[in-house]
Amino acid sequence: MTTNVPLLQETGSTARDEGPLADAQAQLAAAVATLGYEPGLHELLARPRREMTVSIPLRRDDGSVEVLTGHRVQHNFSRGPAKGGVRYSPRVSLDEVRALAMWMTWKCALLDVPYGGAKGGITVDPRRYTRPEIERLTRRYTSEILPIIGPDKDVPAPDIGTDEQTMAWMMDTYSVSSGYTVPGVVTGKPVALGGSLGRASATSAGVVHIALAALEHRGITATRSTAAVQGFGKVGADAALFLAEAGVRVVAVSDQYGAVHQQDGLNIHTLQQHAAATGSVVGFPGAEAISGEELLTLDVDLLVPAAVEGVLTGANSRDVRARVIVEGANGPTTAEADRILADRDVLVVPDILANAGGVIVSYFEWVQSNQAYWWSRQEVDDRLARRMHTAWHHLLDAAAARGLTLREAATVTAVERVADAHRTRGLYP
Ligand code: NAD
Repeated sequence: MTTNVPLLQETGSTARDEGPLADAQAQLAAAVATLGYEPGLHELLARPRREMTVSIPLRRDDGSVEVLTGHRVQHNFSRGPAKGGVRYSPRVSLDEVRALAMWMTWKCALLDVPYGGAKGGITVDPRRYTRPEIERLTRRYTSEILPIIGPDKDVPAPDIGTDEQTMAWMMDTYSVSSGYTVPGVVTGKPVALGGSLGRASATSAGVVHIALAALEHRGITATRSTAAVQGFGKVGADAALFLAEAGVRVVAVSDQYGAVHQQDGLNIHTLQQHAAATGSVVGFPGAEAISGEELLTLDVDLLVPAAVEGVLTGANSRDVRARVIVEGANGPTTAEADRILADRDVLVVPDILANAGGVIVSYFEWVQSNQAYWWSRQEVDDRLARRMHTAWHHLLDAAAARGLTLREAATVTAVERVADAHRTRGLYP
């Protein structure tokens, strides 16, 4: 959400097969078939419980008014309040938000955090607006969706194009309207306002816990392995850093403007400084420029897609040479690519496990905010590591027991937990 960084030329985005909602629905249908659920239960799990689309009139700094569109989709509440990020991107559509909300339901169930799933977004390119404009946009969006959010209803968090400042504005808008401070209405807020220590890097830390476990599972020694990371934002940049700190040679990273490659390993710390100063990884001294597409098919042990959905497709997944893929992003692998990669025995660790570190520490933050009692960084990090490793081992066991891929087993496990909660509560009236 930087407004002072010069706008760079974007590289063309990769084609998706059918879009994230088709992928999410296909994954659910496969899980329902495995579980033998009746059509009524399938439909209940397939359809969001509540959707809100809002017009957001924005007064620009020059006095003109522009009307933008935002959404909040609450997919399921059977296991608790809805939970999910808010995305600011020109690609945001209602169908994308629906898919992301459904994946949040499965992620929370898989990691056994007591939430349902939600997602929100505004169709906007935040880099084209000033900071005061983004603040007004955020406050108006928050006030439009205010009736359906709250610490016991639906708890937003940052996602693509939003950050802890966005959450601070959302929390303040909600609190002003309530007449008192409500820190538990959002997570991923600044530590000074009740954010949790360790939340900012939690998704990346979780990705790396799982990546190291997955490499080991495939008999690959981390300190002799290589990795490529797509996306250098809140998830990708720290995932690359933590991989490098664990001794993995990170040979390539990309962002929406291009990719950089260095066979003897990129210095991720210096690269983060370069990206902070210039707005992109492009032009990093000492590295060779490659295309974002080339990064996906490099000869590496580990590929971490940590940008957007639908980047590993039927068209490029036969050329992927990584032996392990750990999904930092939500939905980076299309249903067709999933089948191809499974046939080629590439280990794909699904998003709903791999990037769950963010929602786990969001849950810790919500618990702390609601109790006004704060944990140490060590406590947060230890609890995160424990939950990620426990979920990883459960998933390996479930996949082996049922003869499924990790994604199939993850979805089946999660869908079963949500369906069990729904059936135990019963249908009202
Ligand atoms: P971000 O906005 O901080 O960063 C996104 C990065 O992806 C940027 O570096 C951008 O330049 C890059 N990018 C965009 N399109 C690209 C393309 N076609 N090729 C290469 N790079 C591209 O967003 P984020 O919070 O890091 O989220 C990234 C992904 O992780 C999303 O799928 C998001 O839903 C998921 N995720 C985020 C969190 C979180 O805590 N932030 C948690 C779980 C999952």
